[in-house]
Amino acid sequence: MEISKVEYNGAAGLQKKVLERRLCTVCGACVGYCPYIKTFGEQVAVIHDCNICDGVCYRLCPRSFTDYEGLRQSVFGAEDFDPVLGTHTSLYFARAESEKIRAQGQYGGVVTALSLFAMQQGLIDSALMAGGGPSGARPFLCSTSQDIFEMAGSKYTAVPTLSLFQEAVKNGFQRVGIVGRPCQVTASRKMQQVKEISGQNIALVIGLFCFWSLSAELYSFLQEKGLSNCSRMDIPRDGVNFLQEDGSQITLPLEEIRPLIKDTCLACYDPLSELADVSVGSTEQYPGWNTLVVRSNRGRQLVADANKAGIIELQPYPHDRLPVLRRAVFQKKKRVLERPDSTYIGIPDWEKESFIKGGGEE
Ligand SMILES: Cc1cc2nc3c(=O)[nH]c(=O)nc-3n(C[C@H](O)[C@H](O)[C@H](O)COP(=O)(O)OP(=O)(O)OC[C@H]3O[C@@H](n4cnc5c(N)ncnc54)[C@H](O)[C@@H]3O)c2cc1C
Ligand code: SF4
Ligand code: SF4
Repeated sequence: MEISKVEYNGAAGLQKKVLERRLCTVCGACVGYCPYIKTFGEQVAVIHDCNICDGVCYRLCPRSFTDYEGLRQSVFGAEDFDPVLGTHTSLYFARAESEKIRAQGQYGGVVTALSLFAMQQGLIDSALMAGGGPSGARPFLCSTSQDIFEMAGSKYTAVPTLSLFQEAVKNGFQRVGIVGRPCQVTASRKMQQVKEISGQNIALVIGLFCFWSLSAELYSFLQEKGLSNCSRMDIPRDGVNFLQEDGSQITLPLEEIRPLIKDTCLACYDPLSELADVSVGSTEQYPGWNTLVVRSNRGRQLVADANKAGIIELQPYPHDRLPVLRRAVFQKKKRVLERPDSTYIGIPDWEKESFIKGGGEE
């Protein structure tokens, strides 16, 4: 083989093709089993040269070539595929039945309620989640219900929660639950296929909706604005809300935080966590409720059991909301497909064409 043609698809590949191109999503998947890759807060760095040609770190990365069709097959089998919303069997408006969880949760608390239920049922024995608050978030390995409860609430930065997966394995957890942004959901599905890192120990994947996240510069921004002590942050369509510890709320125009959006998010093809067992987002209408997308058999069973046990309440997804959701997702995906750096998206040409021709309609 000619030296010049060697492709270093290990840490050196991550460095050149992902980190230097500002495509790293800070999912954390490449961290934890190799001493050469570290996180520093919300930055990932390769700290030592490594010229492996086929590194696990590179394979797991959601910004290395991603065979979406193959991953879909492995998660959903032959289920029908919707090119806009991804494979799903049902959509709901949903919320936690528990008022305590709803008060702690970002919207309806569905993620927290389902995670707690999954732990009580023994479906998971631990969970990787994002703790802390809006002005200082960090990855957390949850091993108790109390831990999970305390993680509730959205942190709008890129918290590298998957970096703790090896710690979970070393601690003997065999059924790890993942709650994550869509990029982390994709990485989790790649991880599940890699025995060397015990990826088969991932037992449940709950995905969040996510159209973009913010860089860690948010923390200094909040300091400058005197908002370091805010306990909660929310980004509805008309601005950014910060809830202060004394209960008062401050709203800033969206334009003020727009420069903090991470570059990689502009190249992100999957705003709805399409490979998750269930995906959860806002309703954009009712702050105390979530949109819940049920995708895999595991997700279907979990939602049915949780509903039967009085853990979550389900309402039919309103027909008039569907075109709004589809349009938002279609626009985002189309923009990304048209970008020159979207080469990591491994979907067949026919799918790209039918997606764009379809215009987001059902
Ligand atoms: C960066 C980001 C962008 C988002 N953008 C959108 C959007 O555009 N549209 C939309 O409808 N919804 C978006 N969401 C999802 C939304 O904010 C809620 O997380 C979701 O609706 C679940 O609500 P809940 O009440 O069930 O959450 P909760 O019950 O409060 O649970 C939230 C869970 O999310 C985990 N979490 C919080 N922050 C992060 C993070 N940064 N990385 C990984 N895990 C995290 C927590 O550990 C917790 O387990 C976004 C979330 C994040 C983190
Ligand atoms: S695996 Fe995740 S954290 Fe590592 S380089 Fe890729 S995107 Fe970044
Ligand atoms: S927009 Fe995409 S890349 Fe950015 S945090 Fe959300 S899922 Fe990850």
